Amino acid sequence: MPSPSQTQALRNIPAVEALLEAPPVAALLAEHPRALVVEAARAVTAAARRLILSAAPEADLPDFSRAALAAQVVARVRAAAGPHLIPVINATGVVLHTNLGRAPLAEPARAALAEIARGYSNLEYDLETGERGSRHSHCAGLLTELTGAEAALVVNNNAAAVLLTLAALAAGREVVVARGQLVEIGGSFRVPEVMEASGCRLREVGTTNKVYLRDYEAAIGPETALLLKVHTSNYRILGFTASVSGAELAALGARYNLPTLEDLGSGVLVDLSRAGLEKEPTALESVAAGLDIVTFSGDKLLGGPQAGIIVGRKRYLDVIKRHPLARALRVGKLTLAALEATLRLYREPERAWREIPALRALSWAEGELKERAQRLAGKINALGQGLTATVQPGTSEVGGGALPLSALPTHLVAVTSGTYSPDELAGRLRRRPLPVIGRIGGDRLLLDLRTVRPEEEAALVSALAAAAGSPAGGE
Ligand SMILES: *Cc1c(COP(=O)(O)O)cnc(C)c1O
Repeated sequence: MPSPSQTQALRNIPAVEALLEAPPVAALLAEHPRALVVEAARAVTAAARRLILSAAPEADLPDFSRAALAAQVVARVRAAAGPHLIPVINATGVVLHTNLGRAPLAEPARAALAEIARGYSNLEYDLETGERGSRHSHCAGLLTELTGAEAALVVNNNAAAVLLTLAALAAGREVVVARGQLVEIGGSFRVPEVMEASGCRLREVGTTNKVYLRDYEAAIGPETALLLKVHTSNYRILGFTASVSGAELAALGARYNLPTLEDLGSGVLVDLSRAGLEKEPTALESVAAGLDIVTFSGDKLLGGPQAGIIVGRKRYLDVIKRHPLARALRVGKLTLAALEATLRLYREPERAWREIPALRALSWAEGELKERAQRLAGKINALGQGLTATVQPGTSEVGGGALPLSALPTHLVAVTSGTYSPDELAGRLRRRPLPVIGRIGGDRLLLDLRTVRPEEEAALVSALAAAAGSPAGGE
């Protein structure tokens, strides 16, 4: 039973029809479908009713004036009418931030994607013969050229690449893998689970920290289908360790006529030591080491669209391409367009470093970041709005489950507000039309410009100014 004050508050909530006549809501009806506005008005009044009914008996009941509810309807309709997937400014300093969409695309990749999206294309059409062609033909040439492999195939992501390869080459039989390589990536890719889903059986060898070639050899029997090596991309086993190199495993596979697969995780095609990073195995090296099949992601250190790349010997790739899962896991034309344009940049490594945003972000020098941070802090301090910005040294991360031990030196802009706690300020920045994502540390909001393009800085400052303004001050 509602209390008398609750009954009164419920009575004060305007009816949906009355809310629709409030001037700001009536104005919405000129621009948006009526059904969308009516639905928002219903949702807003229903939420107000729920709030009143769930309030403690002695609590002050909020006042739901028609103007206040109308403002909520406007906000709701605007949010529902706009896109849900929107750009954000990544000021976390995590270059391949999986939650923020991993690699941003290079300009040639964006242009190719838009061009192919616009109209028809030769996706599966052979322009020489006028007959049906293969979608796999578009990136295969560049991939074999850049990795030295005989053949290549692109699927939805690297998890799909591993799943498909195992299903095609090892279903119903055993796959030998080192215990220390049974990795989990981001909670959704676990090597043992992917193996189970592919229908093959796991044959673990070695211990957590050590595995020798003789361990693999001892596990080989009539049931063995494949030897697997997984790059421990997001952790390292340090100290008293032993592992088997790709070349040793490839030689063992060749001796027993068993295919060898390496899941590289990140598809590095350049030498990262140039950016001061530890060495990450490249696809070229794995192929040269003799591994029969190598898989990697398109949107980690390669810096392209989400994709899984399978390169290796033609006789195995032919089997993989014919498996029914290849059809289920295939990529669309937009991915192929963006990937082809990204791969083309690697023909000139200098261009790749300059134009691929992930590589560009990794190569900012500490001094350059310090200068940018100081300039930005100056602009923030000049805003007023109760904001104070200082510059402090810190570290950026590669992210995307790559190079876990490589912390990149950077300089952070540390912001405090006279009005809001760091968490509140971060929340207000997240809810801007162009959200800015930072991190919190030492009771400050920390912004790392490594992952912010210089041309985004003005928008970042405007967002901060608006987020730091008073709640009632309009925006
Ligand atoms: C990231 C990663 C995967 C998963 O790749 P996605 O492209 O995210 O599907 C698989 N294996 C390893 C070793 C990885 O690092």
